This record gives sequence, structure tokens and C-alpha cells, in this order.
Amino acid sequence: MQSALQARSKLPDVGTTIFTVIGQLAAEHNALNLSQGAPNFAPDAKLVDGVAQAMRDGHNQYAPMAGIGALREALSNKVEQLYGVCYDPTSEVTVIASASEGLYSTISALVHPGDEVIYFEPSFDSYAPIVRLQGATPVPIKLSLEHFRVNWDEVSAAITPKTRMIIINTPHNPTATVFSDADIERLRAVTRNTDIVILSDEVYEHVIFDGAKHQSMACYRDLAERSVIVSSFGKSYHVTGWRVGYCLAPAALMDEIRKVHQFMVFSADTPMQYAFADALAHKESYLGLSAFYQKKRDLLKEALRESRFELLPSEGSFFMLARFRGFSDERDSDFVLRLIRDAQVATIPLSAFYTDGTDSGLIRLSFSKDDATLIEGARRLCSI
Ligand code: GLN
Repeated sequence: MQSALQARSKLPDVGTTIFTVIGQLAAEHNALNLSQGAPNFAPDAKLVDGVAQAMRDGHNQYAPMAGIGALREALSNKVEQLYGVCYDPTSEVTVIASASEGLYSTISALVHPGDEVIYFEPSFDSYAPIVRLQGATPVPIKLSLEHFRVNWDEVSAAITPKTRMIIINTPHNPTATVFSDADIERLRAVTRNTDIVILSDEVYEHVIFDGAKHQSMACYRDLAERSVIVSSFGKSYHVTGWRVGYCLAPAALMDEIRKVHQFMVFSADTPMQYAFADALAHKESYLGLSAFYQKKRDLLKEALRESRFELLPSEGSFFMLARFRGFSDERDSDFVLRLIRDAQVATIPLSAFYTDGTDSGLIRLSFSKDDATLIEGARRLCSI
């Protein structure tokens, strides 16, 4: 349709997300999809039955704006047991319509025009655009190219009186690194005596390997007091399409976040909330996840042993980085296209997670796939 109106874009340089672009290309070329972090296997049938039962029981209208009470209480209990801090279910826990919504509502509620927001690149692709939409300035700090660790001296140097927020993400998408105790100490030191809010994206909290401990902001009272934690049921229960997550924050911050949440989505889907409230009563539903994904990580690693890729360690999340620079000088985006066309396997170029397109010859593989897909995907990658 023709229109005389000019769209006057707020994000003129932003295109369609890499996950959508690669997903479409994968479908066109009938490629195996190791790109998006979305399981290709079924969730627990009991969880699906729980949703169906909630619908049959008549839970089909708006949920309370902050989420159903049973779910907020179950979340508060879970977090207290796991991390030792009590969030008040009435004022400090909110059920959100996906972690993405939680990130948006939080940034939009707490970041003002002219503020600066520090985050680390490579990063999940939504952080910087959301900050820009508030008229604020994203301040990317690059993780070290060798091991993808935070250089905290650079963080200290980047903090100004305008710094309103630091966004962290552990376990990390896309590099699969996790924060250490030393990272926590440095985060404490750089935020002490400031009014900086920490936005902690913890959607992979239950996918952490080799016995490592998840560094939730909820483990540290002083950090919890200045943190908004965003997490997701989609990742933990293999249902990324259900779009339900949760947000934890001190009441004063949560009050503001709810003001945005209520006008963006009002409330998250109702029947799913009933099913998740029941699922949380069974701890193994989330505590078994690390072992489940560690097996998949090891399967993919083993299946790629004969390939020409150099695999980087995956400490958590369901991603693994693979370096191809040792055998090809192609741009990572070209290399990914060639893999889709010639080897019929889809992956994500790491440059997509940088605002300046930094390309160090790495691709991101997702192992949130059934074993047959992982084995066949690895076989195709070995053919390159
Ligand atoms: N978090 C998922 C990933 O990184 C996908 C998110 C999305 O498709 N928007 O692959």
C-alpha cells in the first residue's frame, strides 16, 4: 500500500532481528537449525495438561496485573530457597509476558532521556535498541575477545554521573560464559555508593555446567537492593513460545516497573500461570536442567571433535561458540550463509551481537535441540 506519510523511524539503522533472518533462510534452504535458542523437542506433557486443565477450569480471562498470587508465592519461595533472599510476593515479584517484556518494561520505567546505560558486547540484541527508545545512551563495553570476560577497569572508567543502569547477563548469551566470584566483587565495588540500578538478565539461571554456581543478584543482599532480576519460564520449561517470565525487584523499583507493564501488556497469559505455579512445586522440574543440557553440550562437542572448528568452552546457557578463523578468512555473516547454502546447517554469526559488527571469525551454535538434530548438525559442520 502506498502512503504519503513518512515513518520517521526511531531506529533507522535497525533491521529485522538476526534470529528471524536466519530462521527464514534456514527454512528456504531446508537447513538444520542450530541458530535460535529454542528447543525443537516437546515440553513435559504434564505441563501442557496443566495449561489445558486451567483453560477447562475457566481460567481464560485477564490474570491480575502482577500475576496470579499462587505463582508469585511459588516464585518467592523458590528464590528464597535457592538464593537466600525473600522477595515479597505482593510487591516485589511480577509475572511478565516474556523476559523480553521484562527487559523492556524495566528499562522503560527506570531509564530517563539523557541517562547512560552500560552493557557488555557481544550482547543479546534487544538491550541497546530499548535504551535508545528511551532517549538514553547505550554504552557498550566489549568483553575480551579471547575469553569473553568483563574488564572491570573499563567499566569503572565508563561510569559517569549520568550512568543510570548496568545490564548484566549470566550465564551469558551468546558467549556461554558465567560470572565468577571475582566478577561479583568487582560489580559490588563499581556500584557501591552510586545510584546505579543493575538489570540482571538471568534467563539461563538453571542451565549452568560443571558444578558452577549461578551468580544471581538475589544471592547478595547489597546487590539485590539495587537489582532488577529478569528470568523466564520459556528457557527452563522448553516452552519459549509461551511468553511468560518473571521479574524480581525491591518494591520501590517494582512499583515503577509495574506502571509500564500494566500499560504494555496489562498481564501475562493466564492458563500458563496456573500450570507454572504447579510445576514449581516440583523442584526437579528446574534443578535437573543443568545436567540435561550439559549432556547435550558434551554430545555436540564430541560430535564436532573431528571438525575444523575451534570450540570455545560453554559454561552455561545452551550456546557454544565455534571459531572458523583458523581455516577461513570469510566474514562471519558470509560464512554463515555458506553453511546454510552448502552444508544446510544454520548458525548465528557472532558479529550480529555487536553494534559495530565486530567480526572475530566465530559462530554461535545452539544445542537446545534433540540429539538426532545435534548429531546430524555436527556431521554437516564437519563436512566444511
Ligand atoms: N534468546 C534466543 C536466542 O538468543 C532467541 C530470541 C529471539 O528469537 N528473539 O537465540
